[in-house]
Amino acid sequence: MSPTETVPDLMHGMTTEEICDITRKHNYGTWRYQKAWKPIQMVDAQDSHIIDGNGKRYLDFSSQLMCMNLGHKNAAVIESIAAQARELPYAMPGYATATRAELSKLLLEVLPSALTKFFFATSGTEANEAAFKIARMYTGKSKIIARYRSYHGSTTGSIAATGDPRRWAMEPGGKGPGIIFSPEVNCYRCPIKHTYPQCGIACADYLEHMIRNESDVAAVIVEPIVGTNGVLVPPDEYFPTLRKICDDNNVLMIVDEVMTGWGRTGKWFAVDHWGIQPDILVTAKGITSAYVPLGLTATTQKIADFFVDHFFAHGHTYEAHPMTLAPAVATIHEMQRLNLVDRAAELGPYIEAKLQDLKLRHPSIGDIRGKGLFWALDLVKNRDTKEPFNTYADKVAGIPSLVDQIAGKMMADGVTCQAWVSHFVIAPPLIITKEEIDLGIAVLDKHLHLADEKCSRGLP
Ligand code: PMP
Repeated sequence: MSPTETVPDLMHGMTTEEICDITRKHNYGTWRYQKAWKPIQMVDAQDSHIIDGNGKRYLDFSSQLMCMNLGHKNAAVIESIAAQARELPYAMPGYATATRAELSKLLLEVLPSALTKFFFATSGTEANEAAFKIARMYTGKSKIIARYRSYHGSTTGSIAATGDPRRWAMEPGGKGPGIIFSPEVNCYRCPIKHTYPQCGIACADYLEHMIRNESDVAAVIVEPIVGTNGVLVPPDEYFPTLRKICDDNNVLMIVDEVMTGWGRTGKWFAVDHWGIQPDILVTAKGITSAYVPLGLTATTQKIADFFVDHFFAHGHTYEAHPMTLAPAVATIHEMQRLNLVDRAAELGPYIEAKLQDLKLRHPSIGDIRGKGLFWALDLVKNRDTKEPFNTYADKVAGIPSLVDQIAGKMMADGVTCQAWVSHFVIAPPLIITKEEIDLGIAVLDKHLHLADEKCSRGLP
């Protein structure tokens, strides 16, 4: 369908300008100063492209918010939503439905095998809130150790556990009760000034030191590969070590796979890279390829057994909503049919080689990191000092960043890409073709001179 055929239906008798004006005037633009919000209207999309109100096509180089893993307008997912709406649009969470049972069976196939009991919410944020409550109810302990440079959601509990400065807007009290932070695992800019591998992953030792010097620690929550805050991939021995630390100290391991799940990193879930069985896994985004809002909190049978004789004090009206579960079933079937997990694994080295080539030619690229179709391009003023162009403080102060400026130029050239502080997150739909990857990289290449010109040091 061409954009001109679709536009009239979506316009509700308004012009693009009116639609954007009303949206800006009567809606909150989130995570930004309102005066800086200038939304553009999107009207159509297909596969790896999204189309605006003027008919301009953009290559979606970050799957919107790293969530549309199947790409836009997958026919089977769309049909699953329509079919569920025709059959049973809603049933209270206390009822069983065939869709819910079918999804549960599929989750047993794709999740790490220890996870057998599921709670369905409608966002990653809510799924993390459920994880915290479950961990606290199950252990009878109150503290959660999170890490700096993490993101776990926007509601009171999950923002309190978020280690990036978005939490600051909530001060005082933003840290919330019962949350403590450990240093992030960041081999490029180690917060405790070590160098891998000589460090012997001292960051894990430090975390154990924290557990042993606190009392009352219920759980540790980690993004297996930190997402928004820079696609930080841990060394291979980190997760087996963390698993042992949690076991030795009787602390639960919660993994937040909201962004890393669903084939994004070339495995169904990022922990599969290290063969780890978490106690609780939280996910959302790719679970329905973002066609409808769904979050999942999955626990081990051991945790599930505890609640046989204990009150499970949690739930929502929209929990296990049939309209959210049907597209999750279709998403898993589509991922299996199209073999998308293997595809992401195969395209990983291809995109990595392209990014390495950029690094050879652009002094402003300090580091590239990632796995599968999940990459960061970290821009620095100087490769020796690793000084970024902008900081988190700039972000909170509303100072426009260089990466935002470059992302704006890329958008004008028909490529959308997520920029954050001083890095880009490149995470295209898993159906992307090599030609489309080449195009996205070429547009990035074209505009990186804006950063190169500001570098205090050229290529070595
Ligand atoms: N955890 C992680 C790792 C995320 O990336 C996000 C969203 N970016 C969330 C939690 C929150 O998910 P949601 O926006 O669906 O509430």
